[in-house]
Amino acid sequence: MGRRREIEKLASQLSPSLLPTDDTSVVALIVVGVILLSMIGAGTILLFAWGQRQSSLIQQQRHFVSSVTHELRTPLASIHLAYETLTKRALPEETQKKLLSMSLVDIERLIRLVNQILISSRLDRGLSMFNDDVKTILIDDTLHSIMETLTYLDPNIKERVKIECPRDITWRGSPNAFNMVVGNLVENAIKYSNLKSTIEVFVQIKSDQLEISVKDFGIGLSKRDKKRVFKMFYRSDDATSRAIPGTGLGLFIVKTILEQVGGRITVTSAGRGEGSTFVASIPA
Ligand code: ADP
Repeated sequence: MGRRREIEKLASQLSPSLLPTDDTSVVALIVVGVILLSMIGAGTILLFAWGQRQSSLIQQQRHFVSSVTHELRTPLASIHLAYETLTKRALPEETQKKLLSMSLVDIERLIRLVNQILISSRLDRGLSMFNDDVKTILIDDTLHSIMETLTYLDPNIKERVKIECPRDITWRGSPNAFNMVVGNLVENAIKYSNLKSTIEVFVQIKSDQLEISVKDFGIGLSKRDKKRVFKMFYRSDDATSRAIPGTGLGLFIVKTILEQVGGRITVTSAGRGEGSTFVASIPA
């Protein structure tokens, strides 16, 4: 009490207008103080969360640069070696053909990587893509030709990927956008599962939506990963610790393209090691 009187006396000398005149004013001052303190607390928490986000973004970008460097260096080194061997040695025709077809696979890999980077950067800037090439496509045929383009990932892709699609289903839109979406999902299903395990591609029309689901029996996704996989540059710890090649751009591209055509993507997985199912829905 003595201390309070002292403070009141000091306050009256410094600024008499600020001095509370009754108990209601004291309560009001306390309330204002509490509000101010809570605002400062909330601000500190927000600042901390923003800092955490920035640092995880910087870390993801560092990972991205190192994965891209690796993804570029490996096929370039192998093309370089093939070229040197072909020019410096007299090889049997069979070996020459083998070296050339291996280089072609590496070149395709490089083209895909560069395309992914270009497309994701355009999409990230909010530019819409594939508006100019609208066609009606037969889904079943398109799926089979997408598998052809992915044989470089697994030569046994035709036996491994089971496609279930009614023959007559068509879709009107950009074939390039469609190839990009389904190609990325099947590519991931191959990359993130055992070489011998089956991949199921199932197509149906459900409530005016064309639904394409890609199911694998591979490394699966944790609850945390399921929430983040569609973010640009995101790669799960399982993917990086197993040194599975990738850049963290594929699913970002899939999600953004689908949003641009009024569709969406969802993922389910019973957990790590339990496989995953990605379902892309597009207005039919
Ligand atoms: P990338 O495969 O090039 O790393 P993506 O954007 O396609 O990039 O995928 C982001 C991350 O999501 C991958 O790094 C991986 O951790 C996870 N992921 C994607 N598809 C699958 C899948 N079918 N099974 C398990 N994890 C997956």
